[in-house]
Amino acid sequence: MTEEGKFVTPGDTLGFSEEFMPGDWAYEEEGNIYAAVSGTVETDMEDRKINVVPKVSTPPEVKDNDIVIGSIWDVKGQLAIVNILKIKGVDRGLPGGVRGAVHISKAREGYVSDLSREFSGGDIILARVVEAHREPVELTTAAPELGVIKANCSRCGGAMNPDKNGVKCKECKRTESRNVSTEYGKGEV
Ligand SMILES: [Zn+2]
Repeated sequence: MTEEGKFVTPGDTLGFSEEFMPGDWAYEEEGNIYAAVSGTVETDMEDRKINVVPKVSTPPEVKDNDIVIGSIWDVKGQLAIVNILKIKGVDRGLPGGVRGAVHISKAREGYVSDLSREFSGGDIILARVVEAHREPVELTTAAPELGVIKANCSRCGGAMNPDKNGVKCKECKRTESRNVSTEYGKGEV
């Protein structure tokens, strides 16, 4: 018999009909009990029934204050446009590209005069969601741990390391200005 609480998908064997009856979202076929839906197994010992409690895997949704990982799509005047790829710590990606934006006033702690010195197209950034119910989703990178966590050289495409005031290409040694996160190069990208 399948253990209590186990996650099953349609067609998985749950037990034998000599011992149990098919309960909710389960069915019997030739002496076996099968799961009809994806969900977790629940056994009712009193009625000797095996049930499946349906569980649909719903795509994650961006909420206020979530820390998200995104890529800079473009920097236009006062706005850095971001493709939000995922919520930090959640394995599943976001369905169909959620668009976000960092306004120049929220790019870093302190005054920013030129947003193109903070971000560049293709950078991977860590940001916090200020307002999820906006189109685009409003983001901030005004904290030491937020900002660019991965950048590539605009000249040769090489990987870059943090450097004073920005990043430096490992290959051609070019330096570029960026809002570098203290989490740069540390993980989940
Ligand atoms: Zn380079």
